[in-house]
Amino acid sequence: MQEEKPIILNYNSASSLRSFLQSEGLGMRKKYGQNFLLNSGIRHALVNALEAEAGAEVWEIGAGLGAMTALLLEKGLLVRAFEIDCGFSRLLKGLFSGSENFFLVEGDVMKTWPSQKPASYLLGNLPYNIAAALIADLIEKGRLFTRMVVTVQREVALRMYAKAGSADYSSFSVLCSLFYKVKPLMLIRSGSFYPRPNVDSSGVLLERRSEIVSCPDLFFPLLRALFSSRRKTIKNNLSAFIASKFGKPREVTEKICTRLLAEFGLAGNERAEILEPQAFLSLSNLLLEILPDECKHCR
Ligand code: SAM
Repeated sequence: MQEEKPIILNYNSASSLRSFLQSEGLGMRKKYGQNFLLNSGIRHALVNALEAEAGAEVWEIGAGLGAMTALLLEKGLLVRAFEIDCGFSRLLKGLFSGSENFFLVEGDVMKTWPSQKPASYLLGNLPYNIAAALIADLIEKGRLFTRMVVTVQREVALRMYAKAGSADYSSFSVLCSLFYKVKPLMLIRSGSFYPRPNVDSSGVLLERRSEIVSCPDLFFPLLRALFSSRRKTIKNNLSAFIASKFGKPREVTEKICTRLLAEFGLAGNERAEILEPQAFLSLSNLLLEILPDECKHCR
């Protein structure tokens, strides 16, 4: 009788990963953006870019089959791994539950992260469908990291470090650059993943800014509103925002808008893309100053 050969999990080989998953009765789920990073050099470079010392706490988003998790644990880091796929979670427990530095958070990270202990570092080959939403959510809810190293679709990376005035500049660029210095690390060709996605990705480093940015609650919805219709002017987007948020009569909304733009030195026919990240913050602070004054007159 022939002896069955044990299946070795080789993170650098698509065929090895495929056989391993088959032997475990697991498949890949497109809806979870499951694309494994096959290139060991890139995996090491991403983990090294974190510059985290042994003993530091790190969140790993989308641990998959543990290719990056293993590297983080080798560095002596305390890993809090987030994974939605129950099959992968079972494998991760089998692979790493012997390590006291490994802690698994099962379920959708968009729902699970708020109850988790904060960490200084975040690493993730992020599922494409939640990448931008997760980064924005962490920033908006004030969960900031000393350093984050993420792999995202190239087009998302371009938005993260886009400068004012460029075609890729968006509310997401403003959020990222207000709180972090965003640096491109490397281009990762689609062929470096299994299964191969349709587009290339980029590794991106986000280094927390040393200056504390304090944002009024109004800032985040105002920022989104100013970019909500890119064809509209700042004035149009601003008055729609004030009307929907505060329900003021049209003349009051117009008055607030005109005063805000004049005090800010804008004609009103500009588009949000021309404003530097800091300007959105100043605009929301000024709106808060003006509102009580203007609203004394409205019933
Ligand atoms: N870390 C592995 C690697 O680099 O090869 C896998 C990365 S793969 C692009 C994304 C991983 O995120 C998958 O394991 C997927 O199951 C997981 N994932 C997808 N959506 C998720 C969510 N909402 N919450 C937690 N994990 C998620």
